[in-house]
Amino acid sequence: MKGNSYEAARQVLDNYIEQNNCRKTPERFAILEAVYGFTSYFSLQDLSGRLEEMNFPVSRATLYNTIKLLLALRLVVCQRLYDGMRYKACYGDNRCVQVCTVCGKVMEVKIPEIAETLDGIHLKRFRKESFSVYIYGTCSTCQAMLTRQKKKESTNKNKHYNEYGKRQS
Ligand SMILES: [Zn+2]
Repeated sequence: MKGNSYEAARQVLDNYIEQNNCRKTPERFAILEAVYGFTSYFSLQDLSGRLEEMNFPVSRATLYNTIKLLLALRLVVCQRLYDGMRYKACYGDNRCVQVCTVCGKVMEVKIPEIAETLDGIHLKRFRKESFSVYIYGTCSTCQAMLTRQKKKESTNKNKHYNEYGKRQS
């Protein structure tokens, strides 16, 4: 499965490079291969480490530029997490992703209804291959944290009013 999507992604990159008369640098393909070797989200640091393991160290600039290209070609998706950017190979993946807008936690969920609905939809002059759905909201941990915070704020406010006049601050 992963092998197939790597081959398909490689084809997309190949086509792009040919169409745009870019140079076929081995770095780009090595980076793509490393990217598609990860089964989950990774940081640029992880990617750099993986390339070193493959005996294919690349400069920070090459890594950054290639990831930018892979993002533009939709071969990679990125998510901003609380501790920085994370990337993931995405070609051929049907994904439904929950994103917590407070802590940035990303979780893939299975929603067969969405796949079924999209399967049944015919798009004009377009052959669909895969889809990504992002569902933004607040995770249960953050919801609990926010509720606690609100409670604390309202108690503090009450305290402030009650003691107003007695305290100098
Ligand atoms: Zn959260």
